[in-house]
Amino acid sequence: MGNCLAYGNGCCMCILRCPAFGPRVSITQKAGKSDIMGRRKDGAFGAFSGSGKLEKNSLSQEIRQRLDEYGVAIIPVPKEEIVREKLELKVCQQYALNEYAENIILLDTGYAKIMTPFFPLEKLRKVPGFENARYVDPYAGGKGNSIRYLSVAERDNSMKAAGIENIFCGGEKSGLFVGHTEAISTGSLAGHNAVRYLKGMKLLELPIGLAIGDLISFANKNLESEDGLMTRYTFAGAEYFKRMKEKGLYSTDPGEIRERVKRYGLEDIYGEKLI
Ligand SMILES: Cc1cc2nc3c(=O)[nH]c(=O)nc-3n(C[C@H](O)[C@H](O)[C@H](O)COP(=O)(O)OP(=O)(O)OC[C@H]3O[C@@H](n4cnc5c(N)ncnc54)[C@H](O)[C@@H]3O)c2cc1C
Repeated sequence: MGNCLAYGNGCCMCILRCPAFGPRVSITQKAGKSDIMGRRKDGAFGAFSGSGKLEKNSLSQEIRQRLDEYGVAIIPVPKEEIVREKLELKVCQQYALNEYAENIILLDTGYAKIMTPFFPLEKLRKVPGFENARYVDPYAGGKGNSIRYLSVAERDNSMKAAGIENIFCGGEKSGLFVGHTEAISTGSLAGHNAVRYLKGMKLLELPIGLAIGDLISFANKNLESEDGLMTRYTFAGAEYFKRMKEKGLYSTDPGEIRERVKRYGLEDIYGEKLI
């Protein structure tokens, strides 16, 4: 909760439930290391989560219908309520586009996912169709959102925490990564290497000729610079997506990707039973 008081707009009652379970605790800090803090473009620490959820039933029938039919609804924000600065606050740089400031973009995820860090409720309710809008996550999504990237562990490219013998990390703990795919790909390597460590085996590093290996090493290297601390790394867009394309690593062809992995002798590497 302290993080959101110090670096955000106060507790917004998000999914982390700090008031119920206590604040976030960094295991790497407990082990005596100091974590890295991500920054925003204005130099402030951390970043706001970039979306919230509205109760679908609290929206007009027309908006609900659009969500049911197309999975998405785009509703222009009244000119006087457009706040472009909010784009700078958010984690997901792939969505930090003007269109996301000029429109309310809703995605049907069961709830109506609203693609902006927060939207003052009294203003939101002035927009036609949102007169009764209600936030379900975070509950106080009208005033802010959760603050992330305040305790990233220093690590090497095998995902082992730097200077600690037996901690491996993945996902947002292991860099300024955003997204499930990034959490899965870094976390899989971390888990695999934790088992290798237990077995006394050499730890695996993925080559930079593979997108995951490149993401892991690129994000790590960039943490050394001020600019790098302001960047978020995701396969889904923004800076890393551009790099992936430039380096010829971007492909949606599973066969081509499998061939590439095979060339490095890493095909089905995680399928191997180590213990
Ligand atoms: C509102 C929102 C919308 C998002 N939308 C998308 C999306 O559409 N697509 C997408 O790809 N990504 C999305 N993301 C990002 C994505 O959810 C995260 O990048 C991803 O979940 C990170 O995974 P992780 O395992 O690193 O961290 P988390 O999913 O945060 O998991 C970390 C876990 O560790 C626990 N934990 C923390 N400290 C301790 C401790 N000391 N001891 C024990 N447990 C601890 C936490 O409680 C938590 O359960 C979204 C994120 C948010 C907040």
